[in-house]
Amino acid sequence: VGAGNADAASSRILVFVRLRPMSRKEKEAGSRSCVKIVNKKDVYLTEFASETDYLRLKRVRGRHFCFDASFPDTTTQAEVYSTTTSDLVEGVLQGRNGTVFCYGATGAGKTYTMLGTMESPGVMVLAIKDLFSKVRQRSHDGSHSIQLSYLEVYNETVRDLLSPGRPLLLREDKQGTVAAGLTHYRAYSTDEVMKLLQQGNKNRTTEPTRVNETSSRSHAILQAIVEYRSMDGGGSIVTRVGKLSLIDLAGSERAVATDQRTQRSIEGANINRSLLALSSCINALVEGKKHIPYRNSKLTQLLKDSLGGSCNTAMIANISPSNISFGETQNTLHWADRAK
Ligand code: ADP
Ligand code: MG
Repeated sequence: VGAGNADAASSRILVFVRLRPMSRKEKEAGSRSCVKIVNKKDVYLTEFASETDYLRLKRVRGRHFCFDASFPDTTTQAEVYSTTTSDLVEGVLQGRNGTVFCYGATGAGKTYTMLGTMESPGVMVLAIKDLFSKVRQRSHDGSHSIQLSYLEVYNETVRDLLSPGRPLLLREDKQGTVAAGLTHYRAYSTDEVMKLLQQGNKNRTTEPTRVNETSSRSHAILQAIVEYRSMDGGGSIVTRVGKLSLIDLAGSERAVATDQRTQRSIEGANINRSLLALSSCINALVEGKKHIPYRNSKLTQLLKDSLGGSCNTAMIANISPSNISFGETQNTLHWADRAK
């Protein structure tokens, strides 16, 4: 990004990394940590050939990355929210669209970061809560309405997570690309939002081979459309609309070969299509290209008015500390590095 180029600078993508704690399963498998975060910015990824090498700190391969902020495994949900998303929420109230993605392999912590739990709500819930409180503070100077929608893109098909049913078709309209028939939930309080999202998440498509898990192949998109109306000096009504998109992306790992090869490879190809299309758009934006290939997937079509231009975009790359996931972590960090 050239210095002094205000436009390019303002459409820069903020890139963050979040390391999750080692899981019990990983500990039981005897895994070692291969990621170290220093000064809330630098990420050191190290591979050790054996435990002895590890104890002697004898590295086989290693790399250093630096991001806008990197979150160690002790970071709270509130801290992740305030560093990555709260400015974007403020922007949405000013009529500036904002988008936050969680990217990473299955099990790396995307859903924990976006949705969280009842005890530790994630970015989606904290953002909506913040929107409500900011709107309340401003209620004297006009009226606001907040509408929520929650959908998934699975296998290049768009489904409503708040009102599951038939796939939705995308169409162009003056507000951008919209999913025809999508439920817009007029939300009034935070309390209902967590339940609504958890219910919605249960509606995410599960994989046939992993019945009890939400799919690693579905992208979940929460959108909040904030409309502000006020009277200008001359007595005419002014409206301002801002859209916040919070996205729990599908797992970034490569599709594994299984006996259900055909079905799985079709799905794999489509996941690659959406993630590849997103990568292409992000790379084109970062390189300052004129043409951004939004049309190549459902995901990027839906985000056409929410990526680049005057929009604010943040990316949270989720990683596991375990050496068992070294390859996936390395891919995720390289991907995130290219988005800067
Ligand atoms: P993903 O959505 O990327 O597949 P999840 O968010 O489901 O991964 O995380 C996998 C597991 O790790 C879950 O049990 C989740 O609760 C846990 N986990 C992820 N991130 C954290 C974190 N920062 N702190 C505590 N537990 C976490
Ligand atoms: Mg998940």
